[in-house]
Amino acid sequence: METSVKDLFDSVIIRFGGELWIKKTWTRRLYERRLIRNIKNVLKHYEVSYSEIVRRHGRLFLRTDSAVEAARRLARIFGISSVSPSLETSSKLEDIIDRSMLLAGHLLKERNSFAVKCRRVGDQSYSSADVCRVVGQRILDEFGEKLGLEVDLDRPDVKLGVEVRNDEAFVYSDVIDGAGGMPFGTQARVVGLLSGGIDSAVACWLVMKRGCPVVPVYFDNMPFTDETTTERALNVAEALFDWAVGFPRKIYVVQHGENLKKIIESCSRRFTCLLCKRMMYRTAERLADMMGAEGIVTGEAIGEQASQTITNLRVLSNAVQKYPIHRPLLGFDKAETETIARKIGTYEISSRKAGGCAAVPSKPSTMAKLEEVIAAEEKLNIKEMVERSIESIKVVKV
Ligand code: ATP
Ligand code: MG
Repeated sequence: METSVKDLFDSVIIRFGGELWIKKTWTRRLYERRLIRNIKNVLKHYEVSYSEIVRRHGRLFLRTDSAVEAARRLARIFGISSVSPSLETSSKLEDIIDRSMLLAGHLLKERNSFAVKCRRVGDQSYSSADVCRVVGQRILDEFGEKLGLEVDLDRPDVKLGVEVRNDEAFVYSDVIDGAGGMPFGTQARVVGLLSGGIDSAVACWLVMKRGCPVVPVYFDNMPFTDETTTERALNVAEALFDWAVGFPRKIYVVQHGENLKKIIESCSRRFTCLLCKRMMYRTAERLADMMGAEGIVTGEAIGEQASQTITNLRVLSNAVQKYPIHRPLLGFDKAETETIARKIGTYEISSRKAGGCAAVPSKPSTMAKLEEVIAAEEKLNIKEMVERSIESIKVVKV
């Protein structure tokens, strides 16, 4: 039986983002170590067997017989810019030619165009250009006439790449985009207000991408919402945690309906959403204290909802002093947010029909005056309400 191209590979080239390289040596080492730990966690979690991960001049190389599966998993690890299933060999030119011919033989079809590129580190007797020329010529000699091949350096049908690292070399074709960002766990924790909607999932993911573990908190506003809303938030958390393999998979669920009822009963209806969210922020602040987190993340974007005008965002932020409110989507259009939601696997879940909030007033204030909101809050026992929220917290494993 003919071997499929998938079975040829015995390794994966792992490339990091350029940003890692501008870090000082010790920071970079720390980031690299964390990245390697995250890689090991993912491979273990998905039961992808491998023999070794080696570090060679700005790259990691994974030795594995399941290179295609491994590459697919690795592409979803933060801090990795791209991956390529590859064939490992020595840096002897004859060996490089041999492996390149093997891969080319499997990939090239009739009338294809192709290109060879090479990157080289170390003292070899040949240059990168030599590798491209010699490998390219051998491919033409062997398959050129039979398949009607031509060389196209700009837009080839098949690209062959060679990476030489001292006395080792790796031959590959596909370059699969990675998640980018920074290794997960290289920044401090943040509390993420996760509603289950499209925006907050993307907001949390964006800070996760930059290395922050997120402690997700969901405010259950029953009886103004129903269990479908809660269920959706738990499912979104589950999808997000797939990007954080090896880290705790817990979401904090706060019973917030009683507080919302108090707000409706005691304060002007124009302010319901602002007051509700200010209570959420305050509870998140306490949770941040408890969890050793250093910020609060929300999915707000300028003007996306009545409560999210730039004026109202100021009113919201005013509710907490101890931690900054981070709003990664601040300048995003809805379409931009949705594109990311699709890419990260939360869109389908977040778009699921869920019971909306029955407490939303018909005429919410879009230009609330901070003093008026603070005055309205005087009718509430804030301290007691926050206490009640904290006591109601259920930790749900997903
Ligand atoms: P999303 O799409 O994230 O639900 P949204 O555009 O519908 O956001 P709002 O409902 O005004 O806007 O919420 C703004 C932000 O407040 C959300 O992105 C989220 O971070 C937080 N938030 C709102 N409701 C909840 C909730 N029930 N539990 C946790 N966080 C919430
Ligand atoms: Mg929403």
